[in-house]
Amino acid sequence: SSTSTAPQPNSGGIITQPPPPSTLRESRIATHSHIKGLGLADDGTAMDFSQGFIGQNLAREALGLHLSLLKLGKHSGRPLLLVGPPGTGKTALALALSQELGSKVPFCAMVGSEVYSGEVKKTEVLGSCFRRAIGLRIKETKEVYEGEVTELTPSEAENPLSGYGKTISHVIVGLKTVKGTKQLRLDPSVYEAIQKERVVVGDVIYIEANTGAVKRVGRSDAYASEYDLEAEEYVPLPKGDVHKRKELVQDVTLNDLDMANAKPQGGQDIMSVMGQLVKGGRTEVTDKLRKEINKVVDKYIEQGVAELVPGVLFIDEVHMLDMECFTYLNRALESPMSPYVVLASNRGICTIRGTEYDGILGSSSEGIKSPHGIPIDLLDRCMIVKTELYNQKEILKILELRCKIENIQISKDALENLSIQGEKNSSLRFVLQLLTPSNILNKSKNGDTPNNGVNLDDILELNDLFLDAKRSTAVLKDLDDLENK
Ligand code: ATP
Repeated sequence: SSTSTAPQPNSGGIITQPPPPSTLRESRIATHSHIKGLGLADDGTAMDFSQGFIGQNLAREALGLHLSLLKLGKHSGRPLLLVGPPGTGKTALALALSQELGSKVPFCAMVGSEVYSGEVKKTEVLGSCFRRAIGLRIKETKEVYEGEVTELTPSEAENPLSGYGKTISHVIVGLKTVKGTKQLRLDPSVYEAIQKERVVVGDVIYIEANTGAVKRVGRSDAYASEYDLEAEEYVPLPKGDVHKRKELVQDVTLNDLDMANAKPQGGQDIMSVMGQLVKGGRTEVTDKLRKEINKVVDKYIEQGVAELVPGVLFIDEVHMLDMECFTYLNRALESPMSPYVVLASNRGICTIRGTEYDGILGSSSEGIKSPHGIPIDLLDRCMIVKTELYNQKEILKILELRCKIENIQISKDALENLSIQGEKNSSLRFVLQLLTPSNILNKSKNGDTPNNGVNLDDILELNDLFLDAKRSTAVLKDLDDLENK
């Protein structure tokens, strides 16, 4: 009864058609929306201003070379380590690397300190970030239905959703849905939703009671036998133009698959509702579930139905990770299902976290010190690239670029002032952050009266309101000096 050429590992209950990926991490990436790639010429040299990248030429060229290694499949678990002061484009470089690998390549950015949560194990947080950075391209040839909707009977038309949502799932059979022994004809709006979701014969869908929204939850083979459908309930589909064979490609990450398989399906019955209350709406992805998913993925890859798309995992402030995380990292890097890992740190020699006081052989009470707080064995594997502070001209260009993206009109002298501040007193990040507030300040002063946008006065006023780190520490130093007099 299946119309798909894809294998059917779903009889094990694994969903490979998850909902769209979460957008939680997008805001962090939005600050880099002007970055489109590494901006390299064909010979690998960095172009002055290309694909949103300004300056940092050596780092970009090094990443270009690293990219060639990745494309040749010769990186063999070697992470890239970016070292340099804050706000010198380390995240932007890692993102550009993923963009160079292809538009559908996943990118996951995390900060080392993110692993310390009271609720989730450190290695669990790392593990889910690894899986966010591994993509899977699933190719399927399916028969897609483009047929007419069967007429509703008068009683169904009166209440087309009667019976929907009270049950967990409906099996699509022909152009009708069947749940258990009950057979329902499709209301046109549900039919439309089914087409939008690209649901085909044999798929199991869940139809929400109130909205009629359709969610695909699995395949029918397993369910059909589970519900013991009788033969005549499979309404055979008319052959002809009604169904067409189509090659469907879906890009997902392993984490999407984890979540889709762990999420409670949101049933409306009292027990499902209670279950969701107790779990506080959170989802739990267990190691066992991941292993099961890996098995299905392996099978798909073997059969040529799916292709692994390694993405980029960026771990900023890598010195914040501890020994347990580094051990995990070493192991994960050797896995055939590893993304390309880019680490970043702005620390020099510092203590490897987790080596203080814990009795590890050779550790003192101060712990083991190492460059960037990274254990030597991992450090040995890294290809290290430095990023440098920007000069005023470069800061000015980056500011100009962000103003364009954020649609902020700004005068030349205001830009000049910000760029000087960026080089001399604060940082690129600080002056970039002043752009939006300066725009709001300007608008609040001028209302709807047309003007030339943010001017020098606005910037100077903003400097009285907000301090950069140098000036804020000076305030406290002055206080200390007064007290010590
Ligand atoms: P941290 O160490 O604090 O995490 P970082 O080195 O990762 O900082 P980014 O977050 O990449 O720094 O850079 C700060 C901002 O400046 C971002 O909006 C980034 O896109 C932009 N930026 C940095 N370097 C460049 C560059 N060379 N060209 C264009 N934009 C840049």
